[in-house]
Amino acid sequence: MTAVLQSRYAKLHHRARGAGAAAAKKYYFDRKAETMSGDALSRLQLQRLRASLKNAYEHVPMHRARMKAARIRPQDVRRLEDLASLHFTLKHDLRDHYPFGLLARPRETLLRLHASSGTTGKPTVVGYSARDLEHWSALMARTLACGGARPGDVIHNAYGYGLFTGGLGMHYGAERLGATVVPMSGGATERQLVLLMDFGARVLCCTPSYALNIAEVAEREGIDLKKSKLEVGIFGAEPWSEAMRRELELRLGVRAMDNYGLSEIIGPGVAAECEAQDGLHGWEDHFLFEVIDPETGKRLPDGEAGELVITTLTKEALPMIRYRTRDITRLVRGRCGCGRHHVRLQKITGRNDDMLIIRGVNVYPSQIEAVLVGRPGLAPHYQLVVERRGSMDHLRVEVEAQPGIDAAKYEAMAKDAVHHVKSLVGVTADVAVMAPGALPRSQGKAVRVRDLRPKAS
Ligand SMILES: [Zn+2]
Repeated sequence: MTAVLQSRYAKLHHRARGAGAAAAKKYYFDRKAETMSGDALSRLQLQRLRASLKNAYEHVPMHRARMKAARIRPQDVRRLEDLASLHFTLKHDLRDHYPFGLLARPRETLLRLHASSGTTGKPTVVGYSARDLEHWSALMARTLACGGARPGDVIHNAYGYGLFTGGLGMHYGAERLGATVVPMSGGATERQLVLLMDFGARVLCCTPSYALNIAEVAEREGIDLKKSKLEVGIFGAEPWSEAMRRELELRLGVRAMDNYGLSEIIGPGVAAECEAQDGLHGWEDHFLFEVIDPETGKRLPDGEAGELVITTLTKEALPMIRYRTRDITRLVRGRCGCGRHHVRLQKITGRNDDMLIIRGVNVYPSQIEAVLVGRPGLAPHYQLVVERRGSMDHLRVEVEAQPGIDAAKYEAMAKDAVHHVKSLVGVTADVAVMAPGALPRSQGKAVRVRDLRPKAS
């Protein structure tokens, strides 16, 4: 090929790709719902909110008792703002009514149960009617499409299948979208890689920490994922930083897209990142989103950071009124470049439950991650160890060096990391740089914190 031809070819190729990207931008799984805004959306929300409150009031004794105590009946809610006068629902309410006490439908009419493994006490159990499952699949299809998946794609689903909502949630969403789903679940990473390459997956779904594990095993096995058909990573179910996004995009050769959900609300499919990568669209035709001050319970104005509170609008079997998620975020309103109007949740990088308090400083594991990932010589594998020294809590950060780094340099790298953790997060921590492979790898949800403090008796 002559140089002229080559340059022409490159231009054409570039244009074709550009046109493809523009066309891809305009794809919505449910255009009408996803681009709904203003009065039309508010009207739909109010109508659905009233119906949902009526469902909860008539069929769930706990919600009825709390509404009666507040002297509010469902028909008294005439504006969306009235939501603020309703009670909160907390995670322990699910535990206190274990297993079926908050269901608004008889158990024998449900098609599925999921449960989250609580670290303490009983799991939280959630149930789905036929209509709930239909909605969930459609919301998941929307979520996948919002992140860049398309009908006809091969979607490699490495979220765990089972009681955890991630695996089956993604699975039925992918089918609903019209994609070919490969139901891998987690683990057996070498085998995953063979099928990922052979089946030509364009989309990978898993936790970000497991995606990193996949990238590492691929590099070890001499498989170049950047030469695979993989283009999109739909990563969620654990908080992750922008630094981790860059790392995953670089190593997997994908656009790494976040999504958000929790089993108490529906599972994944509550909010999804679009190609703007500037917040996650919360699907407002099915859920109402508020941010509150976690101390006072008062609603905060848009743009202020606080605890995310979600009310379900269409859930039949397990309606949720003002569920306190313990996740920290802020809400951004207004039309997004992708054409959707649904409110954006700033990328959630912290959960109240994960927050460590080290000598009075609040620390989220993802803040430490943001400092470590991408630092010269450090690998993105880390764990935080919390210990009691005398009467003080102490934080030790264990992080691996990249392969090929001389161990004689570990100490200097650790010193540098201590300095950056102190100046960027504001906490004094010891940092131990460890040999490659020293820390456990994620098979699903990563264990970021080892708490060695004596348990309170
Ligand atoms: Zn958008």
